[in-house]
Amino acid sequence: MIRAERRRVQLPAVIALGSNLGDREQALRDAVAAIRALPGVTVTAASDIVESPAVKPAGVDASAPAYLNAVITVRSALPPDELLDALNEIERDLGRVRDIRWGDRTIDLDIITAGGTALRTERLTLPHPRAFERGFVLIPWLQIEPLAQLPGFGPVADLVRATTHLVRRFPATPLLEPVPR
Ligand code: ATP
Ligand code: CA
Ligand code: CA
Repeated sequence: MIRAERRRVQLPAVIALGSNLGDREQALRDAVAAIRALPGVTVTAASDIVESPAVKPAGVDASAPAYLNAVITVRSALPPDELLDALNEIERDLGRVRDIRWGDRTIDLDIITAGGTALRTERLTLPHPRAFERGFVLIPWLQIEPLAQLPGFGPVADLVRATTHLVRRFPATPLLEPVPR
C-alpha cells in the first residue's frame, strides 16, 4: 500500500532524444509513443525536432550522418534508475546497438534531469554530465521550458548563450499533438 501510494507521486524529469541512423524522425516518434505508454509516466511537452552534425570524441564529425534531436518533459512515478531501465528497453526495442562511444545510433534516450536529483552511480549520473554544453539538448529544452534550470549549472537560457553547437530546426509535424481545448 505504501509502495502504491509512493508510486502515485510523479516527479518532473527531462529526457533528450537523438537519432542519426535509419528513419530518424520515425525513431523519435516511436520513442515518444513508447515513453507515453510507460505506466506511471506522463509526457507533458515535446520540443520541435532539431538537426545538428554528429559530435564524436574528437569533435564535430561532418562525415557522420547528422542527428535529429528533441527534448521532452515528463512527470514520472518511476524513480530515475527505473526510468533509465525503461528507456534502455525502448532503445533496444527500436534497434539500438551499443558498440563504440558516441557511435551512430537509431535512438538514444538520455535523462537530463529528474527533479532536483543529484546522483552519481555506475549507471546513472544526474543531471546528465554533458548536457550543460550541448546545444542540441539545451535549445529544444529552452523552447518548451523557458525558465528551466539545470541543477548545478543555472538557467538553461544562460547556458544556451554560451554554447557553440550548430542546431537548426527540422521541419516536421509536432511530436505531441496539441492538447484539444
Ligand atoms: P552521452 O552520455 O555523452 O550522451 P551516449 O548517450 O552515447 O553518450 P550511451 O552509450 O547511450 O552514451 O550510454 C552510456 C551509459 O551512460 C549508459 O550505459 C548509461 O548507464 C549511462 N548513463 C549515465 N548517466 C546517464 C543519464 N543521465 N542518462 C542516460 N544514460 C546515462
Ligand atoms: Ca547521449
Ligand atoms: Ca545515452
